Amino acid sequence: IDLVNQIAAGEVIERPASVVKELVENSLDAGATRIEVEIEQGGLRLIRVRDDGGGIAAAQLPLAVAAHATSKIASFDDLERVASMGFRGEALASMAAVSRFALTSREAGSEEAFRIEVDGGRMQPVRPARHPPGTSVEVRDLFYNVPARRKFLRAERTEFAHIDDLVKSLALARADVAFHLGHNGKPVRLWKAAADEAALFERVAAVLGEEFPAQSLRIEQAAAGLRLSGWVGLPSAARGQADAQYFYVNGRRVRDRVVTHAVRQAYADVLFHGRQPAFVLYLELDPAGVDVNVHPAKHEVRFREQRLVHDFLFRSLHEALAQTRA
Ligand code: ADP
Ligand code: MG
Repeated sequence: IDLVNQIAAGEVIERPASVVKELVENSLDAGATRIEVEIEQGGLRLIRVRDDGGGIAAAQLPLAVAAHATSKIASFDDLERVASMGFRGEALASMAAVSRFALTSREAGSEEAFRIEVDGGRMQPVRPARHPPGTSVEVRDLFYNVPARRKFLRAERTEFAHIDDLVKSLALARADVAFHLGHNGKPVRLWKAAADEAALFERVAAVLGEEFPAQSLRIEQAAAGLRLSGWVGLPSAARGQADAQYFYVNGRRVRDRVVTHAVRQAYADVLFHGRQPAFVLYLELDPAGVDVNVHPAKHEVRFREQRLVHDFLFRSLHEALAQTRA
């Protein structure tokens, strides 16, 4: 990928939900089995993500927050640039430049925890702290030093709704991890880790709640190195089903035209003309067969063999749906 593409593809620190996304993804990378997200005032006041993952050694704490972007911040323009162009692999450093930031961690196997604070990009010394094995990141007063960005933040409820949506979509991607989400001191979501197929179904139903179709069909198909699993909704007159469309490629949520088209075709062809089907589907394929860096922020992907993927999806769904008529 050339540089222009990398920049275009860069995640943007647009709002509190973008911070939550980066932090939860770091926690997942660290092998967490439980992730707690605490939010105050829609994330405008506080975003805290705590995990039980592998942790960070004391000596590594300054490095984790000190990407080159941070040290180059010398002016208001620099802040604007970081805030608007985003992370590009320097998530912690970028958010630490535009908030009151703290990283506390205890490495697996260690008796001691340590903490580093960064205030608007100014790094403080590492200090001893108390923390169970794992890592907590706190991001307070996001954009407090970038008024031009701060003013684009929406009402508390709106920002929290974005965070809730994001945590939902991550919780559907990683049913094997427990998630907790709290807002202003109250628990909002609490999802246990799902160890087997039945528990996975429970997780999906719990996460989607009202959005989950009253009747759904289990999908489980494999061919030509592609594997599709999950659930598709069968329509019932009683509910609107427009929103609950989750499609994951190798664990990453995507919105893709090839996928959408294949799903629509399968439904339209079998029975549900004009309806927006609800679904939670997981496609697994060889990572070499898909480019996920086309536009990460927009959830775009590019399949190497679009036709093959399209036809596989269409046939898998068509076959399953057709059975419901028999
Ligand atoms: P990236 O994830 O692209 O490496 P980040 O700025 O998100 O960049 O994180 C910097 C580094 O800090 C990571 O590479 C990882 O080593 C460490 N790190 C961040 N969050 C965690 C976490 N929750 N647990 C363990 N290590 C972490
Ligand atoms: Mg990261």
